[in-house]
Amino acid sequence: MSGWNLPWFGGCRCGQVRIEVSAPPLLTMACHCTGCQRMSSSAFSLSAAIPSAAFQITQGEPIIGGLHGGTRHYFCPRCMSWMFTRPEGMDFFVNVRPTMLDEAGWFRPFIETYTSEKLPWATTPAVHRYEKFPAFEEYEGLTQAYARLTERGIGISPDP
Ligand SMILES: [Zn+2]
Ligand SMILES: [Zn+2]
Repeated sequence: MSGWNLPWFGGCRCGQVRIEVSAPPLLTMACHCTGCQRMSSSAFSLSAAIPSAAFQITQGEPIIGGLHGGTRHYFCPRCMSWMFTRPEGMDFFVNVRPTMLDEAGWFRPFIETYTSEKLPWATTPAVHRYEKFPAFEEYEGLTQAYARLTERGIGISPDP
């Protein structure tokens, strides 16, 4: 597998919470939904879906924020950076905000979701676009396509 230089280390803005990632993402995403716009204070959120077994909090204790629903959004208790999300009913991966990583330059979204709610000017280099989310049965094909792309070093920044 070319391009990956694992493990990756990362942390929140203030450094109180630190994380470690030891496997490459299953999928990378940008989400334009208004919930992500609010929580990110920006046009869209970014996610790298990391296998749960390969994700560790190595320092600090993140707290839950956002809607406090079944999907758990974790924030640093001090600087309140939105660090990662554990989606409801999908324990096998964690959506890590890639900009928490010390080295985030490799990241680019492979899919983008909720383009139906996006700000008119907001665009990303995502290969696949969805008005909402992909259908559940599409994810397996998407993760396979992402793996094929990244194995060849394509889809990881900088541009091939
Ligand atoms: Zn912090
Ligand atoms: Zn969203």
